Amino acid sequence: MTHTSVTDTSAASAPCDLLVIAAGVVTVDGNNTIHRPGAIAVSGEKIVAVGAPDDLMRTYSPQKRIDRPACWIFPGLINTHNHLWQTMLKGLGDDMGLIDWIRTLLVPTMPLIDDEAAYLGSALGALESARSGCTTMLDFMHHFPRLSLYDETIRAWDEIGGSLVMGRSVRDNVQTTTAGYAADLTLDQQLAHVEALLERHGRDRVWVAPGTVWGMSVDGLKQVRAFADRLGALITIHMNEVPFDSEESVRRFGMRSVPLLASIGFLNEDVLHAHGVWNDDEDIRLLAKHRCAVSYNPVSNMYLGSGIPPILKMRDAGVRLSLATDGAASNNSQDMIEALKLGALLQKVAHKDSTAMSAPEILRMATVGGSDALQRPDVGHLAPDMRADFFLFDPRTARSTPLHDPISTLVYAGGEQNVVTTVAAGRVVLEDGVITGVNEADLLAQAQDAAARLAEKVRALA
Ligand SMILES: [Zn+2]
Repeated sequence: MTHTSVTDTSAASAPCDLLVIAAGVVTVDGNNTIHRPGAIAVSGEKIVAVGAPDDLMRTYSPQKRIDRPACWIFPGLINTHNHLWQTMLKGLGDDMGLIDWIRTLLVPTMPLIDDEAAYLGSALGALESARSGCTTMLDFMHHFPRLSLYDETIRAWDEIGGSLVMGRSVRDNVQTTTAGYAADLTLDQQLAHVEALLERHGRDRVWVAPGTVWGMSVDGLKQVRAFADRLGALITIHMNEVPFDSEESVRRFGMRSVPLLASIGFLNEDVLHAHGVWNDDEDIRLLAKHRCAVSYNPVSNMYLGSGIPPILKMRDAGVRLSLATDGAASNNSQDMIEALKLGALLQKVAHKDSTAMSAPEILRMATVGGSDALQRPDVGHLAPDMRADFFLFDPRTARSTPLHDPISTLVYAGGEQNVVTTVAAGRVVLEDGVITGVNEADLLAQAQDAAARLAEKVRALA
């Protein structure tokens, strides 16, 4: 009952590139419209119509047609915090708290990352994203003096498909992470590199990303703010992931991290904070006042034992929220469908209240919330003129059957195994379970070899 075919184009009028017919389309639009059955027509990178299959079949003559009458179409998920290179460290950081994990895993490994490791880490992340229905990713790429790593990360992602937004990390107040390099770059040089990337790839794809407040000087933070204002660049920063963040800020600057940023005019709606686990009431008030966004990383927060972010308090105060996986070295996967489930459950258990967060709310956070956090109004829900970013979810597995409500099934009973086809900007990047842009088996074998060699070097340093 599943087939892909080229249709007879003689009967219909308007040409389009792709027509997908499904059991339903969950649009996550402003009215939570679900078309049952549903169809999407795509031309180029954009959706041209969403609606009833009969209507779209009458109206459009597609170059390619995908008939999946048992599958549900969802908007591509938006992952707003990741570190793709860390995919190569997956499984090496188990059972450590954040600061130990940074000191014993991250810091010694960073000088060992070469072009191949950056490429393969990004490629692995892109493969898993396509397979978990994620079509837009904000990658917080740490500061590496080896500038080719940034290009390799973008190249690998683009080969597989989807939209990669790179937050190019900068810092001027910690020396540890580049201790293994012969020479580091000044903040001016780092920002010049961000500017070069911005010129090459555009504002939608390149952000400036101070690592943490305590990894920066106050002058450096002001310089980043001025840089963002001058170029219209967006900003992302780690914030209050663990108590150390604000404790260190108090020690160095006499203020917690969020109030410090507020006091120097850094906070604005162009700033996306990763984590916010230890945001206190005053932090939340300031984030809401300045219309900041926060990414919720439930799996990473659990994995590192960082804590439970006050998501409901932030939501109720008006902080803009999105969902993320964080890097694979503090998650061990980049499965946004897993983040949907655990993100909802973690809030239910935190509040001992089964209504604390519903399946539709967490799905909205991972789609519309991501669009808002990334200031990308062209993605996040399914409607004409939106980017054609969506995935087909086949519920015919023991885990996911029976289906009554597609959103409930996706969030609580779904997984990567249900994602059969993913379309990103009109390009079919996963088709009937097969990655189209690269040879996946070869890539996995290369990544396993390279990661094993890397782990050997890390062990030798211990
Ligand atoms: Zn992070």
